[in-house]
Amino acid sequence: MLHLDSSLIDLNRVGKTTSSLLKKLGLVTIQDLLFYLPFRYEDFSQKTPIDDLELGQNVNISGAIELISNKKSPRRRMYITEALIADQSGTVKAIWFNQPFLTRSYHVGDEVSLAGKVSESYGQISLVSPVIEKIYSSGTIHTTGLVPSYHLTAGLTQKQIRFLIKEALSLTTAVPDWLPQDIRHRLNLISLDEAIKQAHFPTNLEKINLARKRLIFTELFLRQIRSQIIKNELKSRQAPQLIFSEAETKKFVASLPFTLTDSQRQAAWEILKDLTSTSPMSRLLSGDVGSGKTIVVIIALLNAALNKKQAALMVPTTILAQQHFNTISRFLKNYKFKIALLTNQSNNKQRQEALTADIVIGTQALIQDKVSFPRLALAVVDEQHRFGVVQRQKILNFNNQSKITPHFLSLTATPIPRSLALAIYGDLDLSLLKQKPQGRKSILTKIVTDSKRALAYDFIQKQIKSGRQAFVICPLIDPSDKLGARSVKEEHARLDKEIFPDLKIGLLHGKLKAKAKEKVMTDFLSGHIQILVSTSVVEVGIDIPNATLMIIEGAERFGLAQLHQFRGRIGRSELQSYCFLFPSQEETTNNKTLERLTALTKHQDGLELAKIDLKLRGAGELYGTGQSGFSEIQTTSLFDYSDIKQAQMEAADLINKDPELNNYPALKEKLGQWEESIHLE
Ligand code: ADP
Ligand code: MG
Repeated sequence: MLHLDSSLIDLNRVGKTTSSLLKKLGLVTIQDLLFYLPFRYEDFSQKTPIDDLELGQNVNISGAIELISNKKSPRRRMYITEALIADQSGTVKAIWFNQPFLTRSYHVGDEVSLAGKVSESYGQISLVSPVIEKIYSSGTIHTTGLVPSYHLTAGLTQKQIRFLIKEALSLTTAVPDWLPQDIRHRLNLISLDEAIKQAHFPTNLEKINLARKRLIFTELFLRQIRSQIIKNELKSRQAPQLIFSEAETKKFVASLPFTLTDSQRQAAWEILKDLTSTSPMSRLLSGDVGSGKTIVVIIALLNAALNKKQAALMVPTTILAQQHFNTISRFLKNYKFKIALLTNQSNNKQRQEALTADIVIGTQALIQDKVSFPRLALAVVDEQHRFGVVQRQKILNFNNQSKITPHFLSLTATPIPRSLALAIYGDLDLSLLKQKPQGRKSILTKIVTDSKRALAYDFIQKQIKSGRQAFVICPLIDPSDKLGARSVKEEHARLDKEIFPDLKIGLLHGKLKAKAKEKVMTDFLSGHIQILVSTSVVEVGIDIPNATLMIIEGAERFGLAQLHQFRGRIGRSELQSYCFLFPSQEETTNNKTLERLTALTKHQDGLELAKIDLKLRGAGELYGTGQSGFSEIQTTSLFDYSDIKQAQMEAADLINKDPELNNYPALKEKLGQWEESIHLE
């Protein structure tokens, strides 16, 4: 007997090969398969009599095979299979290329159903490469009604997966509908069983929408329930209550070489207010590259330290840790705080020092076992989407052994609309830096094809001679024939010897030793290096205001969001900055590539770009949400604030009434399974 947890190998026609292909798609059990939703439907709901076929139509016909045979094409390069199909109104020819095996499965007299486009062949109306299937008493799957299309992997066909889903579909009645009944009725949602059936093989177009609405709400709701549980739990924890040092903070802000933007002021104020609470802050500070998040963080660090507590800032890379350490030390140099750096390169002594520092900046080394900060009051994490779910858990429990939970602030430069933030980080409060510091010019961005390369180099040369600095980003570290993309090593040598022999050129990539990286970065910062050739390691956070030129080789290899992050390394002062996108030569005629890169030349706003990227690539890529288990279907609704808000309100209501979900055992169990699956990823 099949049940939801049965392995797919238990299905008819699934052997080792197919099951390993299915596994590539993340499909292991029947349940996985049921929730593997189509991304598109082909509409073959109208059956057309053969006599009424018109050129260009997408049609479904059915009839009997009167003739079927293979022949070799005149040039003997391929097989052509031809069949004559007849219904009561007439006959039509169907043609397939290189599928000679069709004549083994289909014979004269078979009743078949076909779907495809009506074309012309030798002046005759015919169906070219239509989908064909026999008509059994159980009905047809591939050629009639609304036919689903699924994302596949090489070796699997639509027919195979449709067939398997059809076979599994009778088990939907066993899927427990864990959504509370009253919510379901109030929101007019169809049952989960019905939704799954309709999502795969819808009776009509309207049913697709009902199914989607139900499935989307289901996922959003689950997320929000989890967020509400975390929120609820945090509320019950004790945080170190800080005193806001108003006078000192004002003095500090007044001493800055710039005035804070309104957004920065607002965000700092929201954070400081949270710090004075007895329950732990849990906040996301989101601001586009260059919006000035660091100074907001420093204001928070300052207040923690003035309270004689510890504060920690965790960042994804050693380079970034070093840079933040320098910046923060510089801004806070008039205070007698002990500021320390902790990375995997730190020796024992430095490690011991860090544990007693007032402010410690570091990499993941901060959350390793045996590292603990007895007075920790504030934990800040930069680019947290780069850290996995497990690390996030560790961060939340930063101070495991103590009953006190530190305030938590998370930073992201991936521009995120409020709706999406609510969906992904529903347990976090949100502060947005909407404006950039004043006087920033937009970055002139151009796509440069090979014929204009020399001109671009002239321009760069002039800019550098006038005192500016440049980044050159390449996709690879080492040369590779296979990938055909530029590597930093080759490019460094080429620029150094051939293009800019009189300029000082540095090289940076992830395989360099930490000390070497540090030296390169300091040399670049001090202007000793004029052009820095680097891999994507410069992507996050590096801040060198004098660098105003960004050259990206093999630009098509990067996503829009990532390109935007690269570009964010320049335009960080009042100087005019320039970004040159060099696509690989063979890509300069690829429309998709050009469309993507052109978006970059037109938009400076990360949020706009994120939306475009989301359309082109899906949310998983963009926000690392693959990791947090977003399904395909959901990404389409990620910008729908009202849906998400509704799910949040329902979830908050429920958790308020029944924080332990004791009256909702099915929901509780589902949540448990879901957590587990996220942690396994
Ligand atoms: P990001 O948000 O990308 O982390 P940073 O915090 O690194 O941005 O800030 C970018 C640059 O802008 C830094 O050199 C910083 O000193 C400067 N900056 C920050 N706030 C302001 C401001 N209000 N006015 C002018 N410059 C600012
Ligand atoms: Mg930053």
